[in-house]
Amino acid sequence: MDAISYERATDISSAVRAAQQPGTMFIGGGTNLLDLMKGGVTRPVKLVDITRIQGLDTVSTLPDGGLRIGALVRNSDAANHALVRERYPLLSQALLAGASAQLRNMATVGGNLMQRTRCPYFYDTAFTACNKREPGSGCAAINGHNRTHAILGASTQCIAVNPSDMSVALAALDANVRVSGPQGERVIPFGDFHRLPGERPDLDTTLRSGELITAVELPPPIYSEHAHYLKVRDRASYAFALVSVAAALQMDGGTVRSARIALGGVAHKPWRANAAEQMLAGHPLDKATLDAAASAALSEARPQRDNAFKVRLAQNAIVRAVNEAAGRTGGVA
Ligand SMILES: Cc1cc2nc3c(=O)[nH]c(=O)nc-3n(C[C@H](O)[C@H](O)[C@H](O)COP(=O)(O)OP(=O)(O)OC[C@H]3O[C@@H](n4cnc5c(N)ncnc54)[C@H](O)[C@@H]3O)c2cc1C
Ligand code: SF4
Repeated sequence: MDAISYERATDISSAVRAAQQPGTMFIGGGTNLLDLMKGGVTRPVKLVDITRIQGLDTVSTLPDGGLRIGALVRNSDAANHALVRERYPLLSQALLAGASAQLRNMATVGGNLMQRTRCPYFYDTAFTACNKREPGSGCAAINGHNRTHAILGASTQCIAVNPSDMSVALAALDANVRVSGPQGERVIPFGDFHRLPGERPDLDTTLRSGELITAVELPPPIYSEHAHYLKVRDRASYAFALVSVAAALQMDGGTVRSARIALGGVAHKPWRANAAEQMLAGHPLDKATLDAAASAALSEARPQRDNAFKVRLAQNAIVRAVNEAAGRTGGVA
C-alpha cells in the first residue's frame, strides 16, 4: 500500500499552494477519485481536500445576467437550484440524468468536469495496454471490445469517450470554467477545457498542473424556453450514455433563430455539432432541414468495429432532442 499525505485546504490560495508538490490531487466528493485509487489506476502521493473551502459551494447571479456555480456545489444542489431549473433547464436535466441520487448528493461540479473516462480497459490494470493510464503502452480498446467508444475525434492512441452528462449541457450553453493556479486566475471557454486525445490521451483537459477549478459560469439565459437533454443508454437509469444530445433553441414561431447542439458519448470531449447548428439557424424547423442537420453532425464519424450503430443512434437522437426542445414531442411534419 502506498503512503498518501492529506491536507485540508481552508481557502483557494492554501489549496493552490498545497497542490504544488508533484503527485498531488484535489479531492471533492471522491466518487470517482477514490474508485480510481482503490483500483490502482491513480496513485496520488498527496490529497488536498477542498470540500471545506468557503464560498465555492454557492450559486450566484453575474452582473451580465449570467450565473456562477461554485465548484463545490453538489450535483444535486446544482440540478435543483431554482435559478438553474428556471433559467438553464438543459443543465438541470443533464445533471439529473447522471449517476444516482446518492452519487449526485456527493459529487461536486468541479469533480464532475474532471471525472475520467469509463473505458473498461482504463479501469482494469490487468490490461497493460492503455495510453491514458500508461503513456506509450498502447490501446487495448482499438482491437478489443469498443461498443461504447468514440466515433468522432479519436486518435490512433486512444478512442475513449468523456462520460460527463453535465459537461454536454455546459458545452451547448457556451459556459466558461474559472480556475485559480500558481500563476493566478484565468477563464477557460468550455470548448477549450476538455481535449481530444491526439498524441496525449493521458491529458483529459487543458487544466495546468496545480490549478483548481473554482466555478463554472453561464452566459445570460437565452435558451431557457426551448431546451432538452436526451440520454440514450443501455438501461433506464444508473448508466453512462451511449449517446446523449443537449439541444437548445431560440425560436421565432416555427423558425429557428439560433441553435446549440452538443453530443455526449461520442468523443473524448463533449462534441459541438457546429454544422448542424448553422443548418438550423434561420430556417423553419421542418423534417428535411432537421434530418439534413443531423446527418451533417455525424458526417465526420469514424466508427470502431463494434459501434457503427452509434452513428444512426446519434442522428436519431439529435432529431428527437431538437423536436423535444421545440416542444414538438410528436415530431415535425
Ligand atoms: C456508479 C457510478 C455511476 C455514474 N454515472 C454517471 C453518469 O451517468 N453521468 C455522469 O456524468 N457521471 C456519472 N458518474 C460520475 C460522477 O458524476 C462523478 O464521479 C462525479 O461527478 C465526480 O465528482 P466528485 O466531486 O466526486 O469528484 P472526485 O472523485 O472528488 O474527483 C474527480 C477528479 O476531479 C478532480 N477535482 C475535483 N474537484 C476539483 C476542482 N475543484 N478543481 C480541479 N480538480 C478537481 C480530482 O482531483 C479528481 O481527479 C457516475 C459515478 C459512479 C461511481
Ligand atoms: S481507449 Fe483510451 S482509455 Fe481506453 S484502453 Fe485505449 S488508451 Fe486506454
